[in-house]
Amino acid sequence: MTGELRGASGPEDPAPGLLFAATCDLVAIVRGRAVPATAEKAFLDRGVGWVPADLAMTGFGHIADDNVFGAAGDLRLLPDSASAVDIAPDGEVPGMRVFLADQVEVDGSPWPGCPRGFLRTALQRLYEEYGLRVLASFEHEFVVHGAGGDAFSLQRLRGAEPFGSDLVACLEQAGFGPENWLPEYGSQQFEITLAPADGLVAADRAILLRELVRDLARRRGLRTSFAPILEPGGTGNGVHVHLSLIDDVGEPVLAAPGRPGGLSALGQAFCDGIVAHAPALSAIAAPSVNSYLRLRPHTWSAGGAFLAERSREALLRICPGQGHPAAAGGGFNLEYRAADATANPWLVLGALVHAGLAGLSGECVPTRVWPPEVDVDQAGAAIAPLPSSLGSALDALERDEVAVEWFPPVLLTTFLSVKRAELDELSGLDDAALCRRVSDVY
Ligand code: GLU
Ligand code: MG
Repeated sequence: MTGELRGASGPEDPAPGLLFAATCDLVAIVRGRAVPATAEKAFLDRGVGWVPADLAMTGFGHIADDNVFGAAGDLRLLPDSASAVDIAPDGEVPGMRVFLADQVEVDGSPWPGCPRGFLRTALQRLYEEYGLRVLASFEHEFVVHGAGGDAFSLQRLRGAEPFGSDLVACLEQAGFGPENWLPEYGSQQFEITLAPADGLVAADRAILLRELVRDLARRRGLRTSFAPILEPGGTGNGVHVHLSLIDDVGEPVLAAPGRPGGLSALGQAFCDGIVAHAPALSAIAAPSVNSYLRLRPHTWSAGGAFLAERSREALLRICPGQGHPAAAGGGFNLEYRAADATANPWLVLGALVHAGLAGLSGECVPTRVWPPEVDVDQAGAAIAPLPSSLGSALDALERDEVAVEWFPPVLLTTFLSVKRAELDELSGLDDAALCRRVSDVY
């Protein structure tokens, strides 16, 4: 087929070309192995080989020296057939079916280092303890290098054609429910939003969406970047995580008109947990050195650890009732704004759910619901700042006795050693050099 099919499609048809089993690692890079499509049965039954120390890869091409695995051990990457998307053949470039995979022991039992398993456990806890499920949607901003035209303008959108239309078509074929494709505020910046989905599916889609964008852009001769910020003082690329909680019969449970922010008591408690554990969450959701060039007050990223109605400076924004992608039937959702695309979506959503659970258990200080016009400077000490560097976020995570219990020890230890290895690797670079280094990877 020549250049006709342009994107990804659902996996009903015979598999094209290779089958790829992928994980998303601690630095949000998608890694894995391919087999020929003729080997599909064994691939789905037993997965492909994998190596524990692969979890200790930094974003800059090395395995962290102090990783706990060394040369020992074996794992399997076990593909989840429900996650598969097809990248269609495009001219000379063959198609491929990509599966997200769980990392399991060679006997098929769960491996505690698996980031996808981390999210599964968090969602399972929420369901078992409260009978609740998460609906989520990850909203991504990224830059298409060289795209001209003004912020929000038709000219910028048209200038990025046919990439934009091809991307939207590809996401539709993949069943991801693209909702808005828009030219954003930053120079050369765009945003894509997807329909809400169950927590695990939403995080899977966030991982695959980035790959589909990069893959399509490369085939079109374009360069993209999801890095948190491309130049000092520039506009950030955020990944805003929208979430809603629903009960067993699909009824939304966050809303209660008349209460502060329209939040139910349960919703308030869930938010209390996220705000209380904000510094530890930053280490997971904003885990690169230059994430902290983005997370600054007055940049519409997240200007402090607070909950507010309809404020784009808030860590946690209560979105308006109507028409938001993640709004369940009741039209109510929360938006966690501190994340960026250097973070692993499974870890981000899993950590948010664990933090929300800490709030639900009543162990967190009730947080205030600030009005939309809240000003971080005027609020002063009433609003705690977010960590100002990756180093301080990692220290906060390690010091947070509740948060450390969310993670299997092997996962947390490896995360900290990978991130500290990155800090070492990038130490001494000025902000401009940091931006270049990180944007080359993401
Ligand atoms: N670019 C902003 C960020 O870094 C978000 C702007 C917006 O969409 O509200 O998160
Ligand atoms: Mg935006």
